[in-house]
Amino acid sequence: MSVTHHAVIVIGSGSAGLTAALYAARANLAPVVFEGKEPGGQLTLTTAVDNFPGFPDGIDGPELMDLMRKQVQRFGADCKWETVFEVDLAKRPFRVKTTDDPSGDPASGTIREYTSSSVIVATGASAKWLGLEGPYLGNGVSTCATCDGHFYRGKEIAVVGGGDSAIEEATFLTRFATKVTLIHRRDSLRASKIMQDRVAKNPKVEYAWNSVVEEVVGEKHDGHNVLTGVKLRSTKDQSLRDLKLHGLFLAIGHVPNTAIFKNQLATTPEGYLLNRTALAWKGIEAPKGLLDTLPNYGTATTVEGVFACGDVVDTHYRQAITAAGSDCAAAMDCEKWLESTEGEKSQH
Ligand code: NAP
Repeated sequence: MSVTHHAVIVIGSGSAGLTAALYAARANLAPVVFEGKEPGGQLTLTTAVDNFPGFPDGIDGPELMDLMRKQVQRFGADCKWETVFEVDLAKRPFRVKTTDDPSGDPASGTIREYTSSSVIVATGASAKWLGLEGPYLGNGVSTCATCDGHFYRGKEIAVVGGGDSAIEEATFLTRFATKVTLIHRRDSLRASKIMQDRVAKNPKVEYAWNSVVEEVVGEKHDGHNVLTGVKLRSTKDQSLRDLKLHGLFLAIGHVPNTAIFKNQLATTPEGYLLNRTALAWKGIEAPKGLLDTLPNYGTATTVEGVFACGDVVDTHYRQAITAAGSDCAAAMDCEKWLESTEGEKSQH
């Protein structure tokens, strides 16, 4: 297998990864971007983005990501639809293995190996599941209203969660569904006030307060599993009730995509990568090594030459614009660090 060397490898292609690539490309570092199995990241699963500056009328998430990809390509970044399944960060040059299988499965697809002088980790986070979906996972139960909402035209559905994502999904899904029940485990929403006000005015949205999904229920029709509803448990008195549904959407948060960095980069107990900036947040202790090197690099991780930013680090802000901003910082840190590593310059 031939191995290609790059000065900078960017892992991830959400607003974080593409911003890092933009800055690295404009610094003449010819970055390669491994887009992963969700090219464009979380924004490709969302609808109107109203809080990304520069778009006074809002913009659809997938369109925003397409524009970002075109912009980085204009400056020479090489965006590859490959998923990194293994990294070796023990010594430089770092080694990265990828597959071009769309699901990221290393057992299929073409395997390629790359080396690099530096790595920017922007692998983001993926939607959480309840763990109760059974045969209805992706088949009646979804984490993507944009992708699957149109299947439920004229049907009754529910959204689980009380944050901005849940409100956004519920509001979007009322375009198709006759009724959307918002299932939330408490009696008040976590979502921002403006989103709460918007959903409160929507006559198609009903609430199941203080409720959690106990069971996802369905039946077989002509050999196919068809979701027919959920059993809800009250978080107040533990009583159970049935809610008939055709579809269930989950918006219960995200888990960071850090499995490939296990035992190589320091993480929080929840698996978020730790960089110097993250130390500013409540309850985060400095892991061994993080404060010993690279004092002025906010995005430095516990391995010198590896920078991390965006939602894979962020337990706090988690906005498209903060992800983009932090990855601009990562690319600038990376560029400055590459300049300072004289011995490695010959390899760039
Ligand atoms: P989030 O704010 O973490 O909200 C997750 C929601 O799911 C919470 O209401 C939580 O309940 C509930 N939940 C978590 N685990 C659960 C479980 N096992 N069973 C039932 N309910 C569960 O996540 P998010 O809504 O995805 O938002 C993440 C970040 O992205 C936030 O910073 C948000 O502001 C941002 N965002 C912004 C926009 C926008 O501005 N357009 C859109 C989407 C997201 P509790 O409230 O009880 O904890």
